[in-house]
Amino acid sequence: MNLILLGPPGAGKGTQAQRLVDTYGLVQLSTGDMLRSEVSSGSDLGLRAKKIMDEGQLVPDDIMIAMISGQIDAASASDGIILDGFPRTTAQAEALDVVLGAKGLTVDHVIQLEVDEDAIVSRLSGRFSCAACGEGYHDTYARPEVEGVCDKCGAKEFTRRSDDNAHTVRSRLAAYNKQTAPILPYYLEKGSLKRVDGLGTMETVFGEIKGIIDGV
Ligand code: AMP
Repeated sequence: MNLILLGPPGAGKGTQAQRLVDTYGLVQLSTGDMLRSEVSSGSDLGLRAKKIMDEGQLVPDDIMIAMISGQIDAASASDGIILDGFPRTTAQAEALDVVLGAKGLTVDHVIQLEVDEDAIVSRLSGRFSCAACGEGYHDTYARPEVEGVCDKCGAKEFTRRSDDNAHTVRSRLAAYNKQTAPILPYYLEKGSLKRVDGLGTMETVFGEIKGIIDGV
């Protein structure tokens, strides 16, 4: 089973993708995570991508398509993939069909997480994660049970994404509205687009996604 999670930055794609990995054994392919590891490695691509990401713009399609094709190849023995953060443009959506089609694969569900823009700015500007295990937290909605200690692994170091500041968040939202939202009709026409209210609790949202996958 192959899924796409679509939605603006801060809609909860990464969190829900992780739940889907745990429940269905799918492989999560997050293009944002791939780019962040290029940035940490200090590669040429990482240096170029960091500037674009900090401005809240999109990395060029040719780079992203090559990156995701390689990862889809690597995941081809798995039970399926969850694409989190890809596609983000119509050219990426079309290229994805070609890459999957060449392997006899298709996209089974495109799940659009709907959230309003005010909620996004508040969600993103307070989020942070454990530097060791990646568990996500929020200044207002999800603080660790013991201040300064990760609930999941006990580590005491936390990180914040450099693009989670109000200025960059606004650019990321503008990029979503201008370049990513126009791909929704592409999937609507194919009949694979399902909408989910992304403003509920993590559990409620996951329940709705599960209902779509399990066909209930
Ligand atoms: P994300 O973690 O999905 O919010 O992505 C963080 C940043 O990485 C985005 O704001 C973009 O600059 C870049 N990025 C991630 N995925 C893509 C993509 N499919 N196409 C272009 N840029 C991307």
